Amino acid sequence: MAEIRLSGPLERDSIVNGDGLRAVLWTQGCARHCPGCQNPETWSFDGGFLVDLEDIKKKLREFRGQTGITFCGGEPFEQPEACKEIADWCRQKLGWNVWSFSGYTYEQLKEIGGAKWEFVKCLDALIDGPFILAERDLTMKFRGSRNQRLLYLEKGTGKILRQE
Ligand code: SF4
Repeated sequence: MAEIRLSGPLERDSIVNGDGLRAVLWTQGCARHCPGCQNPETWSFDGGFLVDLEDIKKKLREFRGQTGITFCGGEPFEQPEACKEIADWCRQKLGWNVWSFSGYTYEQLKEIGGAKWEFVKCLDALIDGPFILAERDLTMKFRGSRNQRLLYLEKGTGKILRQE
């Protein structure tokens, strides 16, 4: 059975991780180690806990009134196949939109391709780039540093529709 490594419990009713009221999935594992990262406990690839994808879907089905789901980390793009499976299921079964954060830039994900780019292609929005302490800005919507972009994407192609 397919599993995903998470750093914390599924959240619901979040208004700080994307537009609307959102479920949030916190992945475990990030190799980037940005100085000033708010979640260093999510760095270890052996930390957190493994969860069966079917158990996650069962739990998400109980969440009523959500606009969408956001993948946070850790680095969601280190587990792109599992994230994509959950993302596709949320869209098809629950009618939710899908956002993800990543320490990779959009351009890096496109260049790497493969499963990482396939996950990008199923998103409505990507907040990209690492947290950079020198560019810290607490006034930005959903982001911590000025280098990070909020990219609205065309589902199915990954094309950038607009950015904030
Ligand atoms: S990419 Fe995100 S989770 Fe990873 S170290 Fe940087 S701020 Fe932390």
